[in-house]
Amino acid sequence: MSTTVDTKCLHAGYVPGNGEARQLPIYQSTTWKYSTSDDMGKLFDLEASGYFYTRLQNPTNDAVAAKICELEGGYAAMLTSSGQAANFFAVFNICEAGDHFITSSSIYGGTYNLFGVTMKKMGIECTFVDQNLPYEELCKFIKPNTKCIFGETITNPTVDILDFDKFSKLAHDHGIPLIVDNTFATPVNCNPLKLGADIVTHSTTKYIDGHASSVGGAIVDSGNFDWLAHKEKFPGLTTPDDSYHGIIYAERFGKAAYITKATSQLMRDLGSIQAPQNAYYVQIGLESLAVRMERHVKNATKIAEYLASDDRIAWVKYPGLKTDSAHELMLKYMPKGSCGVLCFGVKGGREASIKFMDSLKLSTIATHVADCKTLLLHPASHTHRQMSEEQLKEAGVAPDLIRFSVGLEDPDDIIADIKQALDIALA
Ligand SMILES: *Cc1c(COP(=O)(O)O)cnc(C)c1O
Repeated sequence: MSTTVDTKCLHAGYVPGNGEARQLPIYQSTTWKYSTSDDMGKLFDLEASGYFYTRLQNPTNDAVAAKICELEGGYAAMLTSSGQAANFFAVFNICEAGDHFITSSSIYGGTYNLFGVTMKKMGIECTFVDQNLPYEELCKFIKPNTKCIFGETITNPTVDILDFDKFSKLAHDHGIPLIVDNTFATPVNCNPLKLGADIVTHSTTKYIDGHASSVGGAIVDSGNFDWLAHKEKFPGLTTPDDSYHGIIYAERFGKAAYITKATSQLMRDLGSIQAPQNAYYVQIGLESLAVRMERHVKNATKIAEYLASDDRIAWVKYPGLKTDSAHELMLKYMPKGSCGVLCFGVKGGREASIKFMDSLKLSTIATHVADCKTLLLHPASHTHRQMSEEQLKEAGVAPDLIRFSVGLEDPDDIIADIKQALDIALA
């Protein structure tokens, strides 16, 4: 029934029956009751579907995952405790010790660390690549043990846009899936699954929640990748799982294989479930997501245009600006606009940028982004602090780069705040 994204934000995932709660109930219960031992035994063997323990599944979480799934045009979805857990699960579900994968080097600092440091300790190797390289160059990074390709729809913090045609071709020409973190664009402005991605991840902490209330993540699978056609590459999905009496996920669950494995194996063992209470906050956030994204884009465009016109600003990057290097890809893949995040540098370099930040009154310094309130931070000192100068350069993070996440305030108030801070910083 729900057709457009605006309507889906409100109605997808949970449709109450006659006399049932209008708002999604919070199932604040760890466990479910069964009448017979056999009834419950079948759940443990994945022979019957049903709830038994919240670490595996919970109805509140499932309703929210179903909404995100519908918004993304996916086949199956799950929530995780954080965006970090979502990206880890998304890759670890198909990569094991001895495997390799490729990621754009322009990604969120936390993901960079997860892939480059922590997963390396697990024996999974990752190659960071410049996403602007031509197709032929990118092909050279593929190895026989490469299992997936990862990128962000809109890169955090450099707000570049993934060339979906190039990256989905790269993945599919080599028989591997493309995983895309769609946190910044949200399903309102971009649907990676319709552009050739196979799996989408989210930090729901950002725009989807939108009100800085709960850390969470999500994974959505298109169900399109044919695991059995590349049987030898993905043994976790195509050979028997001893922990479930020899189930072969891809044969037993078809299009739901990837999410079923991630839930029944990874979530069971690693336990990074989203709290049902947090899933409820995510549900509330999703209801207004389409309205908020439209305003974030409108406000950010106005502020980017102002910044581009103030000669105290060294440079500004926002895909919505006609002169921006990502503008054409934006028009192609997200015609409604990118999001509210932009970045810029203040003339006078790193020192002036920091003084400017400290002089703002309305916009606040916070380790957060993509929120209803205007927030900013300095990646080289904050989110990307652990990176070397070389790695910062590789990730495209200039030393003076300020990541500015435009909120829903009156844009003229935000501009007035920026102007007074520039007056102080450059006095
Ligand atoms: C914040 C963020 C993450 C990590 O999400 P958490 O919910 O903080 O764990 C991953 N990817 C992107 C693009 C992000 O902005």
